[in-house]
Amino acid sequence: MAAADDADVPAPEFSVAPLLPWQRAPLAAMLAQRAQWHHGTLLHGPAGTGLRRLGLHLAQGLLCRQTAAGLACGQCDACHLFLTGGHPDFRLVKREYAPKKDNTGELRLRDEIVIDQVRELLDGFMYLTSHRQGAKVVMIYLAEEMNTQAANALLKSLEEPPQATYFLLVSHQLRLLKPTIISRCRRLPAPQPPPAEAAAWLAAQGAAAPLLLLAQAGGAPLKALTMKDEAYQDERVRFLNRLAEPRRLSVIGMGAEVDAGARAVRKARLQAWFDLLATWSYDLSACAAGAAPRYHPDFAPQLSKLGATVAPRSILRYHRTVLRERSLLAHPLNPRLVAENALFGYRLAVLGE
Ligand SMILES: [Zn+2]
Repeated sequence: MAAADDADVPAPEFSVAPLLPWQRAPLAAMLAQRAQWHHGTLLHGPAGTGLRRLGLHLAQGLLCRQTAAGLACGQCDACHLFLTGGHPDFRLVKREYAPKKDNTGELRLRDEIVIDQVRELLDGFMYLTSHRQGAKVVMIYLAEEMNTQAANALLKSLEEPPQATYFLLVSHQLRLLKPTIISRCRRLPAPQPPPAEAAAWLAAQGAAAPLLLLAQAGGAPLKALTMKDEAYQDERVRFLNRLAEPRRLSVIGMGAEVDAGARAVRKARLQAWFDLLATWSYDLSACAAGAAPRYHPDFAPQLSKLGATVAPRSILRYHRTVLRERSLLAHPLNPRLVAENALFGYRLAVLGE
């Protein structure tokens, strides 16, 4: 594989995606309290439900000069600055691209938000007077991606917040956050759409089987949208068919498969496999207990056939192991080893051998 293929591609310029229909009213309700806004807010909800855009619209609303219909107006100078990514009183802290250690000049996306990024905020941003005599907003996306040093540095500011500075921490996985961080913030659960509304939205985006996609995504509409892709569905069906026949599962062969391609491709494939292992093992334990599958209703016959042969406790234990392993995937690892371990574990849980 050519070296150039192995480089991560830096994300596009700053952009704010439009609010999702079910986010408008809850956001307006949040912004109605902006005069007494808490200095630390923890916006949380599942991945694939539009938290990044919700957080950005909330930040824009806090900085806007004149909200309209309860939301940021989109017209004032603050909104213009915000939408071009140039508002001097706003910072978005997220994982950054950094040069690879091999001196090739190529970039790779860091696995963590590092302490230098928080220091830059503390020294260069937060304690300077607001450029515009208004509030300052720092959005941390995602809060669980801060490493320990970064989180500790931020904690000090959350304890003694500078005046008129709002921290907006966005998180998909609260259980990965330090309890001390959580306790300094006001928790704000992100609004989730009722299934019918999410399905209607998906259909409007061109999804042919919106309810099935929503099931696969655990109800997360943006995640469901990414699963609309035909290549993804082919890969999913192929992978699940293999899990449905554990005796014929070739662990070593699949390990080699996950190892093929550029770094970013390998990582994405491993992530997709773990998502499928997690949802499949959940469904299998449901079927073993006589319930219906939640994520893969189109595989109900295979799931109930296999479910009748497995020990519910053993597959549930396996499911929990997969969830734990999946939460570690962001860190450097050997995709092949991780995949092989997970698949051997699956065979053991299902076949007892
Ligand atoms: Zn505005």
